[in-house]
Amino acid sequence: MQKQTDVLIIGGGFGGVAAAQKLSKKGVSVTLVDRKNYFEVTFAVLRNVAAPKTLGNTPRKRYRDFIDGTFIQGSIKSMNDKEVKLDNGESIRFKRAIISSGSRYPTLSLAKSNAAFDYTERNQEIVANHTLLASAKSVLVIGGGTVGVEFAGEIASAFPDKDITLAHSTDTLLDHMKPKAQRKALEQLTARKVKVKFNRRFTKDGNVYRCSKSNESLQVDIAYTCVGMVPNTEFLNAELSDVLDNKGLVKVDPFMNVVGYDNLYALGDCADLDNHKHGYIASVQGTMLADLLLKSAKGKKGSAYKTPPFAIITPTGTDSGVAQMPFGVTTMKFFVNMKQKDMGISNMYKIYGSEPNKLI
Ligand SMILES: Cc1cc2nc3c(=O)[nH]c(=O)nc-3n(C[C@H](O)[C@H](O)[C@H](O)COP(=O)(O)OP(=O)(O)OC[C@H]3O[C@@H](n4cnc5c(N)ncnc54)[C@H](O)[C@@H]3O)c2cc1C
Repeated sequence: MQKQTDVLIIGGGFGGVAAAQKLSKKGVSVTLVDRKNYFEVTFAVLRNVAAPKTLGNTPRKRYRDFIDGTFIQGSIKSMNDKEVKLDNGESIRFKRAIISSGSRYPTLSLAKSNAAFDYTERNQEIVANHTLLASAKSVLVIGGGTVGVEFAGEIASAFPDKDITLAHSTDTLLDHMKPKAQRKALEQLTARKVKVKFNRRFTKDGNVYRCSKSNESLQVDIAYTCVGMVPNTEFLNAELSDVLDNKGLVKVDPFMNVVGYDNLYALGDCADLDNHKHGYIASVQGTMLADLLLKSAKGKKGSAYKTPPFAIITPTGTDSGVAQMPFGVTTMKFFVNMKQKDMGISNMYKIYGSEPNKLI
């Protein structure tokens, strides 16, 4: 028999889980589909790899242990405005669908796994990545955005004796942040003896990394390239390619409605909703979209989405970091700790009406 649901949610990341929880708590029949069988707080992964004992498996939790609606593990291969097809050949019909398939990070697959779709396998993958890192004496981190800065800081904090180089293509770290945040991050990393090299573009050439800008070459035991996210929207190519823009993002109106389709919605990293791609924002969007759907069921129209005030907090190790708050940039522990303390894990599970697994 073909499966059916009122609301199908494609992807159980920050946005999808927020929408699923809010709708199912209000009695809507919701089915969440994800290729993984666990939710993961991405924010915590870099520290998890650098120092796995600090957070253990607490960033991850199996959907079946906290999701209120129906969960189906499977990868969506294609969809139209009535049904999705899964990789196992099954299909699910829906009245409405929320596309929250997020993004991947192809150059650094440890950040968002592209292979470990099972909870236990992912826990093992984190430890395996840690073992590789631990055995390296010299480390090159390519890319001085949030991910590269954070990873360099976490590695330096966990392994103060490693020889760590952070190479960035422009002349400031954290290009999207304010100048004070850029300066503070540089000071903090330098204090941890991370060698920061600006205006460098390193690529692998046999056993060495060569910079096309400076002609310099580096031989390192391990390198991590931390550049660029890609939206997970390929499954729309076959039947709904008209909803994608030239970056592969789903085109939506300010009510998160997919342009041209009354019963399709999109949010989070895969949608062209706003320029800021953050898990916290995706979760706000998920809750807001659930509210809009609940209101529309009562014949009411909710308000258009506006980017909420938000903080960008970039730890540079376990006891330092910069926080760009709506009021300005600070390195005060009170603000940095909003993420630093447990990398936002408790806070995210609280939003979903749950709590992290116990640290063992
Ligand atoms: C290392 C790192 C650190 C970060 N730190 C922060 C931070 O501190 N604060 C912050 O706010 N943001 C942070 N971000 C950004 C944040 O992780 C993303 O913005 C967030 O993951 C987007 O949430 P989402 O719900 O849109 O999608 P995602 O979290 O990407 O979730 C999408 C889900 O869809 C599933 N999926 C995809 N395609 C399919 C398919 N075809 N079939 C079935 N399932 C599918 C995936 O398995 C995944 O579970 C960080 C990102 C990285 C990489």
